[in-house]
Amino acid sequence: MTTAIVVGAGVGGLTAAITLADRGVRVTVLEARDTAGGLAGGFDVDGRSHDGGPYILLDRPGLEWAFEQIGERLVDHVDPIPLDEVYRVRRPDAPDVVIFKDVERTTEGLDRAFGGSTADRYRAFVRQMARIYERLEPFQRSPFAGAKGLLREGLVREGLFLLRGLDAHLRNAGLPEPVRDALGIWTHIAGQPLDKAPAPLAFVPALVHGVGAYSAKGGIRRIPEALARIAEARGVEVRLSTPVARIVRDRRRVLGVETASGERLDADLVVSNAPGVATYARLLDPPVGELVRRTTRLPLQSPGVAAYLHAEVAPDVPFLQFWLPGGGEHCRVLVHAGAVDDTRPGTLRLVAPTDHAWAEREGRGGQRALLDRMLEEPWWRDAVTGFDVVASRVPVEWGQEFHLWRDSMNPTMTAEFMRRGRLAHRSPVADNLLLCGSSTHPGQWVSFCAVSGILAVRQWPG
Ligand SMILES: Cc1cc2nc3c(=O)[nH]c(=O)nc-3n(C[C@H](O)[C@H](O)[C@H](O)COP(=O)(O)OP(=O)(O)OC[C@H]3O[C@@H](n4cnc5c(N)ncnc54)[C@H](O)[C@@H]3O)c2cc1C
Repeated sequence: MTTAIVVGAGVGGLTAAITLADRGVRVTVLEARDTAGGLAGGFDVDGRSHDGGPYILLDRPGLEWAFEQIGERLVDHVDPIPLDEVYRVRRPDAPDVVIFKDVERTTEGLDRAFGGSTADRYRAFVRQMARIYERLEPFQRSPFAGAKGLLREGLVREGLFLLRGLDAHLRNAGLPEPVRDALGIWTHIAGQPLDKAPAPLAFVPALVHGVGAYSAKGGIRRIPEALARIAEARGVEVRLSTPVARIVRDRRRVLGVETASGERLDADLVVSNAPGVATYARLLDPPVGELVRRTTRLPLQSPGVAAYLHAEVAPDVPFLQFWLPGGGEHCRVLVHAGAVDDTRPGTLRLVAPTDHAWAEREGRGGQRALLDRMLEEPWWRDAVTGFDVVASRVPVEWGQEFHLWRDSMNPTMTAEFMRRGRLAHRSPVADNLLLCGSSTHPGQWVSFCAVSGILAVRQWPG
């Protein structure tokens, strides 16, 4: 019987393991932590459920596709909560921008705040993005082809669209700066300036006003929890608290892995869901110098600073609120799960994205100082009273807890990186080594990582 080892039980590792098990492969997942789910996992405090990382599902179709590929229906495992008010962006120098699922409700607010032509331009932008998205959507479920691949398929306009960054498209639409910032908010939370953001982020408004955006009852963590259950039901062995120290290579083949406790496990195939850069720079042994040099030069994205709170919350506090303080400061986020999920009343998270280089320079002390500063900021405190900080994480702690590469959640998704492509599923240096997870797909959402595990395994002829 063919055997496979999957390193890491993140979303991508779990879908890869299930896909392999369905192909009759005997699969062992080795996970360093004492629980599966990786960054998409959660935790409980005093009976309240918290998501550690993700809080919003922006690509429900991608996740549904991934569940279908493993013979399941998403809704049989997860109870998605549609968001009516998707998010609100506040700043000191301009009116709030509120994005509803309903495009007309959104434009009514834009009309009041910025005048009628903004509303018309917004509608036109959303329509245009929906058209382009429709043509490009299937490419999210196939291995990276790049803009050139699209040109080969005759998708010339779409290819050219991808070659430009998000900011260029938003400016082209003639939208005022506060609206541009609100639409590019996913760049701000990645700690990136708008002019570095890739074009596909312009599809988010099309998704939000089309299929909608979602939370999930009990949290996004229910997705990896479901995948872990499915994996075990299909006969996948998931070994927790088993960090892998080496992926053992002999020329163009990997032979298996060695765990941190020195146990050697051989396999016909190794799939790494450990961070892509770490796979080449830390795990593959012997390493391949050129690959290590190339991957370790990639710009990295920090998971930022997070405080998890229990509190009394005023009724008008929405699910998702961004604060753009200006003055060169990164944005802040207040996630209020209780606004949409009656199983999680008074459950909040405060997030401050951080620039990766800044976080490395500052170390734990500077990162903790930012966390303390964020907790003192007035912008969120008028509507939240009597709060307890029940948990917190700064980049150094994310790094240690999740075995990240230099405390980064992945190579950051800049426009330039999108054009060059992410790390390939098929390793260029070993025929039976595959990579999956956030560094292998042109997007890092939970849905993309779920898709990545399936696509990775499809690259393997064995
Ligand atoms: C703060 C934050 C907010 C986010 N918000 C959203 C959001 O709102 N919506 C969204 O869709 N996505 C969001 N994301 C992104 C999403 O959560 C991640 O991209 C996704 O969960 C990563 O999945 P993955 O398959 O790459 O595996 P990972 O989650 O990276 O898991 C990899 C697993 O491998 C294990 N591992 C690593 N090295 C080893 C080793 N040597 N041996 C054994 N095991 C190892 C790790 O312990 C981990 O469990 C967010 C992420 C963060 C951090």
